[in-house]
Amino acid sequence: MGTWLPGVVVNKKQWSDELFSLQIDAAIPEFNAGQFVRIALDINDERIARPYSCVNSPDEKYIEVYFNIIPDGPLTPKLARLEIGDPLWVWDSVNGLLTLNEVPECRHLWMCATGTGIGPYISIMKTDKVWNRFEKVVLVYATRTFAEMAYQDFINSALNDHGGQFIYCPILSREEKQSMLPGRIPGLIDNGKLEAQAGVEIDAQNSHVMLCGNSGMIADTITVLGKRGMQKHKRREPGHIAMEKYH
Ligand SMILES: Cc1cc2nc3c(=O)[nH]c(=O)nc-3n(C[C@H](O)[C@H](O)[C@H](O)COP(=O)(O)OP(=O)(O)OC[C@H]3O[C@@H](n4cnc5c(N)ncnc54)[C@H](O)[C@@H]3O)c2cc1C
Repeated sequence: MGTWLPGVVVNKKQWSDELFSLQIDAAIPEFNAGQFVRIALDINDERIARPYSCVNSPDEKYIEVYFNIIPDGPLTPKLARLEIGDPLWVWDSVNGLLTLNEVPECRHLWMCATGTGIGPYISIMKTDKVWNRFEKVVLVYATRTFAEMAYQDFINSALNDHGGQFIYCPILSREEKQSMLPGRIPGLIDNGKLEAQAGVEIDAQNSHVMLCGNSGMIADTITVLGKRGMQKHKRREPGHIAMEKYH
């Protein structure tokens, strides 16, 4: 059981025509970086709710969510129209297993995102835990175009703060840009180009791979990693891959 908490938008950032972040003031309970909240609006007398990963760290005062408009979607066009001071609903529990608590002992953490799937990794990277625990932290961020890459200032400051430990691999599928890999995550793992760019190998001995975003990327990456003897992680059956499927 749970209940809806009243929330209010306290900040809004528009990254492009389709991409938005909202900061929300609501009294949610403690959570772990990488988890998601449920956000709802009352639309035509119906409460429409969807899950969204927290971009904020557990220490920050406001919830932050990052999303794109799905033109025919019931919630996102309305969510994007909210302004500072507007009310919304937030479910009073936070869920999800894409957290560091679920990652078994390993040396290298790979965090792979498509599109808005970058959100939970920003939250994780805002915590000390990730920097205290892994020898290498690799962020793989795949979008169609560079204009769709959000949170670049935060990522650049993490590169400054955690130089040799933090490796950033941006990937573009629909345009070419210097120093960014062209293609898609599964293909670039399969042909070895992602690891060549990162200077770190993905293997069952040393690596844990988090996958977040679209289901095609997640399914294809699991297949590619399966060829290396890597499997989904389960609490009762430790593995090497964790995921959060957005759509
Ligand atoms: C655990 C979890 C966490 C999530 N966290 C986020 C998040 O942090 N940010 C975020 O943007 N979305 C996230 N999502 C997706 C989100 O809950 C909504 O589905 C999405 O925002 C669209 O909402 P909607 O009501 O407008 O359309 P929906 O009715 O939810 O979806 C309409 C159609 O669009 C597809 N769709 C949903 N999301 C996308 C997308 N990003 N790109 C292309 N097609 C899509 C759906 O599969 C469906 O076919 C998450 C989903 C899950 C299950």
